[in-house]
Amino acid sequence: MNFKIHIEKERCKGCGYCINACLQAVLKMSKALNLKGNHFPEVEKSDACTGCRRCASMCPDTAIKISKVYSESDNKTSAEKK
Ligand code: SF4
Ligand code: SF4
Repeated sequence: MNFKIHIEKERCKGCGYCINACLQAVLKMSKALNLKGNHFPEVEKSDACTGCRRCASMCPDTAIKISKVYSESDNKTSAEKK
């Protein structure tokens, strides 16, 4: 199972809390600016994401959401378990 990290960059104020909260160093600060003139996080190593949601829970502006992505191998695994 993988996880998709959704970052609403226009909500971001560039505080960096999410980047510091991620123990897997999945996120890094962009060089680009949003319309408010803030740097925002980008996903650097999506494969390393464990889905812990620390980043999302630390964000004061609810700019990050994490969702599960199921692959075919997940289906096979669950079918084999039955
Ligand atoms: S869900 Fe956890 S591992 Fe994934 S980017 Fe957020 S803090 Fe990092
Ligand atoms: S915690 Fe939220 S507001 Fe702060 S840098 Fe991350 S996404 Fe932006």
